[in-house]
Amino acid sequence: MSELIDALRAFEGRVIGPPTRALDAVNEPMIRHWCDAIDDRNPIYLDNDAAKANGHRGIVAPPTMLQAWSMRGLGGRTGATAQDDLLRLLDSHGFTSVVATNCDQEYMRYLEPGDRVTTTVTIEAVSDEKKTGLGVGHFVTTLQEYRDDAGEVVGTMRFRILKFAPQPKVEPRPQRPRPSITRDNAFWFEAAKQHQLLIQRCARCRQLRHPPGPMCPHCHSLEWDTVDASGRGAIYSFVVNHHPQVPAFDYPLVVAVIELEEGTRLVSNVIGIEAHDVEIGMPVVAEFVAFDDELTLPQFRPGLN
Ligand SMILES: [Zn+2]
Repeated sequence: MSELIDALRAFEGRVIGPPTRALDAVNEPMIRHWCDAIDDRNPIYLDNDAAKANGHRGIVAPPTMLQAWSMRGLGGRTGATAQDDLLRLLDSHGFTSVVATNCDQEYMRYLEPGDRVTTTVTIEAVSDEKKTGLGVGHFVTTLQEYRDDAGEVVGTMRFRILKFAPQPKVEPRPQRPRPSITRDNAFWFEAAKQHQLLIQRCARCRQLRHPPGPMCPHCHSLEWDTVDASGRGAIYSFVVNHHPQVPAFDYPLVVAVIELEEGTRLVSNVIGIEAHDVEIGMPVVAEFVAFDDELTLPQFRPGLN
């Protein structure tokens, strides 16, 4: 890590390529074209008299054209620059993505027609490793200095990029479908949240029943209470679901009818075993799984306790 920092620091102060002299001097046609393109109607850029009335010798160039005078295409490049080497070094350490983060320009004087701009670019700073919303990376700041033919700096631009390690995009997993909760079965799901596996029991004839319902199918009593199930049972029947796949579940998904040792059956999932190893009659034990803040359900894992 510190070896990389040292290597990055060594780039600070290095000049990128030879100075670039503008192909053309500052000129009125390019100024007119620029002002037309961005709809800037300030008369000091377009009208000599208005410029003179504002204290200039004649029309001046919009300061924001600074970069336009000497920016060259890629075709004129010769060989790798210090910046290429720096970016390659960052690439090789996993910082393969790039985003421009900010650009600050400073203007020392207005450019006038006839000025010829020469640009030099220096790697000004390479940051330590930073954590950002996009990922971990290093900021690289370059300083472009724009000079006239007398060698005076007429403007500068600091351009900062972030070279960062792209993060794999993690889609939040959709929530497991909600059970249909009614007045008759709400107690069962509430108990599951507390890691209790309840079985409804008729208060008159003591028969156990599941799924929960308002009336005893044996004696038709509406009175009921519950017993705590041990959680032990056996696989009564099952299917292995491969398709269609719902993103909230893991596949292959074993959906089983579990017969509890108390005698009632419920539908659940079998976990902790390869789907092709599941067998009817296999002893299983309940384990409560909290899928999210609202939903906890018993799942069944092979085992005796
Ligand atoms: Zn009953």
